[in-house]
Amino acid sequence: MNLCQQTKELWRAYFMGEAESALSQVCQWLASDCVIVGTGRHEFYTSLEQLCAAARFEAQERSHLQLDVVDEWYEQKYLSDTSILVYGGIRIGDSANPDSETFIDMDTRFSVLYQKIEDTWKIVHIHQSLPYADQMEGEYYPKTLREQVREARDLAQRMQKLASQDSMTGVLNHHSFYEQCTTRMRQGGELWMMAIDLDNFKQVNDTLGHLAGDRVIKGVAKVLKDSVRPEDLVGRVGGDEFAVLCLCRGVAQVANLAQEILNRVSQQPDTPSVSIGIARAWNNEPVATIFQRADEALYRVKRKNKNNYMILH
Ligand code: GH3
Ligand code: MG
Repeated sequence: MNLCQQTKELWRAYFMGEAESALSQVCQWLASDCVIVGTGRHEFYTSLEQLCAAARFEAQERSHLQLDVVDEWYEQKYLSDTSILVYGGIRIGDSANPDSETFIDMDTRFSVLYQKIEDTWKIVHIHQSLPYADQMEGEYYPKTLREQVREARDLAQRMQKLASQDSMTGVLNHHSFYEQCTTRMRQGGELWMMAIDLDNFKQVNDTLGHLAGDRVIKGVAKVLKDSVRPEDLVGRVGGDEFAVLCLCRGVAQVANLAQEILNRVSQQPDTPSVSIGIARAWNNEPVATIFQRADEALYRVKRKNKNNYMILH
């Protein structure tokens, strides 16, 4: 007795048949006290009436879709002289309607238990399930929820980092520099703001070209990153202008840091000098106001002799 073909017709009628004719066909094969379990939504039906009501509802729900069988397989196993198990998989898609807003790719597994009742093979149990959506090929257990949450959080962090970076240099962009300064200042401590601008940078572009100019900007960003502590903030706030918010103890320490930056920049290839304006970042003062003072100091240096720093208290 081969019940695979009948099982195939059952699923085709269920997924693709017109509701009433499919139901009357399927009902002939079902024992009146059959049990149907679906673990997709944990639905189960223990009588033909319940099953028919649910099938009509589902047929109505998908009436606008054109479902197709993309793939299917059936195996039969004799359990005893009077019971046969047919199991397999059926993959359903909506290929007939590529413009549909709904994308159907449903890979279901099933077991159908037939029993010989008064010389007729009747279905007494159907179990249908959908493998876990994120389950990989060959993976038996789905990923744990914790693992999924961690992956989602890592992705969100990576996206946030990308959005906060200046794409050329990898330091903070203008917006996130200001934002992170506000957060850092709430934590307290003696903070100093530096505004740093390349001197006569236009000449680099004019003489060596724009690509060489880009390399110079990247090099200066790296010098700044390497000169401050990891907790300090470095941002690119203009074409050839950077800003630093750093924790320093007293004017002498911040002056040392500024001098170190000047020295390190002077060792960079093809790189002009920089000018640095420095202002104390007082708590509760808006970041823009602090930066304005550092910028004012920077332009005083520029007007005087460049390649130097000035501190405004
Ligand atoms: P100053 O000493 O007064 O700062 O003179 P400067 O020549 O550096 O003039 P300024 O800072 O006003 O001009 C900066 C130039 O940087 C203008 C612009 O063409 C160039 N620039 C801005 N962004 C980029 C960039 O991403 N790559 C390159 N290669 N050049 C840039
Ligand atoms: Mg400049």
